[in-house]
Amino acid sequence: MKIILLLLLFFSNLFSLVDITLSHKNIKPGSTFAVILQSDKKLIQAPNVIFKNKTYQMFTILGSIKKYEVFLPVDYHAKQQKENVQVRYIENKKIIKKNISIKIVDGKYKQNEIIKVAKGKVTLSSKNKDRTKKEYAAVYKNVYSYINPKDYIGKSAFILPMKSKVTSDFGNARIYNGKTKSYHSGTDFRAKVGTMIYSANDGKVALVMDRFYLGKVVYVDHGRGAYTYYCHMDSFKVKDGQVVKKGDILGTSGKTGRITGPHLHYALRLYNTTVDPLQYASLHNKIIKIYH
Ligand SMILES: [Zn+2]
Repeated sequence: MKIILLLLLFFSNLFSLVDITLSHKNIKPGSTFAVILQSDKKLIQAPNVIFKNKTYQMFTILGSIKKYEVFLPVDYHAKQQKENVQVRYIENKKIIKKNISIKIVDGKYKQNEIIKVAKGKVTLSSKNKDRTKKEYAAVYKNVYSYINPKDYIGKSAFILPMKSKVTSDFGNARIYNGKTKSYHSGTDFRAKVGTMIYSANDGKVALVMDRFYLGKVVYVDHGRGAYTYYCHMDSFKVKDGQVVKKGDILGTSGKTGRITGPHLHYALRLYNTTVDPLQYASLHNKIIKIYH
């Protein structure tokens, strides 16, 4: 009996109990899900997740060595099918792999939202084509390709960038000037020119820029691959590299870029994938309540 107990004790010390939780069983394209790993011991190393052929490093929750998380984007154009989420980590010098499935389901997004904008903003002149290419390259280099391992938003819940009515949801299928098909890559808030825009959470201003489609835009890096950005602005109140707190004024809303009228287009990129900013925020707020 004593030997069995000793053996049990030996093995329970050798292997830890690892619990892996997915925030969703079913997920819409253009949304975010979270993977949480909790271990009862300190033996877990280098946890990461493989999803749709991409490897994502998991990050410690508030510096704990027993709790890890990662927020993963599902592309708007992702096929509706079952996908495998593989969690890998090292335990006692062995690589452990665990598979969990997630189902990508119909986003039920509104169809045929008709948008009328200036002709030159749909059929681009070669000069403007050149401009949009250069802009994207600059944003990719300075923003989207950089995964800041720092966690700016640990326990901090997201707020809305302004208190106003949502006039167009993320994901609406759009037709520009009767021909160009696209989808709405953010959430629109009703805002007359000059309305204050607030940073939705803590972070660092990654880039302040004037873009062809998005107009005057501020990108805020929240760490770990998540950037919120605020478009069609009229004026800026922040500079590149500035650290901001949730609720700080980033500038005022306007009607710059490709617009039908003045409003705020609020968007979020996660690992260079556009996702619903409000769904991301509500998931983050839920996760921090439970695990942080
Ligand atoms: Zn918009």
